[in-house]
Amino acid sequence: MGIELQSVTKAYDKNEQPVLHDVNAEIQDGELFVIVGPSGCGKSTLLRMIAGIIPITSGRLLINNQVMNAVPPKDRQLSMVFQSYALYPFLTVADNVAFGLRARKMPAEEIEQRVNDALNMVNLTAFRDRKPRELSGGQRQRVALARAIASDSKICLMDEPLSNLDAQLRVRMRAEIRELQRKLGLTLIYVTHDQTEAMTMADHVMVLNDHHVQQIDTPLDIYNHPANHFVAQFFGTPQINLLTATTMSSKATRELQVAEGVQVTLERPITVGTYTVGIRPNQLVATPVAANEGNATVVNVEALGETTIIEAMADNGKALRIVQAGQVQLPLNQRIAVTVSGKVFIFDEHEQLIAEEGGATSDQFVSVH
Ligand code: ADP
Repeated sequence: MGIELQSVTKAYDKNEQPVLHDVNAEIQDGELFVIVGPSGCGKSTLLRMIAGIIPITSGRLLINNQVMNAVPPKDRQLSMVFQSYALYPFLTVADNVAFGLRARKMPAEEIEQRVNDALNMVNLTAFRDRKPRELSGGQRQRVALARAIASDSKICLMDEPLSNLDAQLRVRMRAEIRELQRKLGLTLIYVTHDQTEAMTMADHVMVLNDHHVQQIDTPLDIYNHPANHFVAQFFGTPQINLLTATTMSSKATRELQVAEGVQVTLERPITVGTYTVGIRPNQLVATPVAANEGNATVVNVEALGETTIIEAMADNGKALRIVQAGQVQLPLNQRIAVTVSGKVFIFDEHEQLIAEEGGATSDQFVSVH
């Protein structure tokens, strides 16, 4: 059951490099599956192949165990919601929702029932006779949602549906879509470039970059175990610190010297070489010290009320981002000692995660010179 992508590849032009390589994924019935990545990485292309709007170059798409590669869009029993609401300007809200159902020659009574139910579900019953221009952006997007709901498809595809809305409305619509999806038991595939949308809405997230799948996992597993540099940097605000580190011995060792003067002791030895240590800003602590001490200098402080973001310059010139709970008073140019308070990630020279360290008491494995 569900949707399965098996080695799906797409090249728009036979003579050109594929824009998507070897995509494999299983999407369960009734889950909200987010495809996230920067602009141009192939998200819409993937969604359009699932919809059947563009052909799959190689590989297979299965819906409920049936190969769908050659099945036309209208027979795939799915609905789509796009960034542009694609509403008919001269039709009322109700007629916009009914349009697709009429095209399918559904009996008028059933159409009426479905339109009423769908408008009720998105709280637009009072607006049924208005034209799209008489609605706010959020209401228009809800009409597009109502249209998808009325179609009664069990699979819904959404391509950046909220990107035209202002920030506050986006937050509200996120919750509304999530609630509707659960209530209707929809299998929802949702494309976005916004990591917060992915984190807050998804059951599972597919991270795409550079035309390849980077990782598929639950939001928290992606945050807690990022497969590589890209994923580690894409999720989490402010961004994770990625610091170059070298082994401190001429043979396999447990000691890593982070260039900023932080030493990490690993649980298991690794071979001699250069690595990258990833430390989330909330796993670093800044302690004010005297002018000739410490290992960094405060460059900027952002007081957000509940947290304080400290930008510091390490003595070797590397910028550090530190997040501290509460309101921390630190003057600019204050000398600080930066220490690690929790978990760190170790990436190899191919930017792949090879180890995670710490998470308990830090003083046992990290010291600052
Ligand atoms: P995203 O949705 O992640 O922004 P797209 O799937 O729209 O990315 O695009 C992925 C890549 O495919 C881009 O390099 C884009 O230029 C290219 N592309 C998209 N549509 C077409 C098309 N119809 N013909 C040729 N190339 C295309």
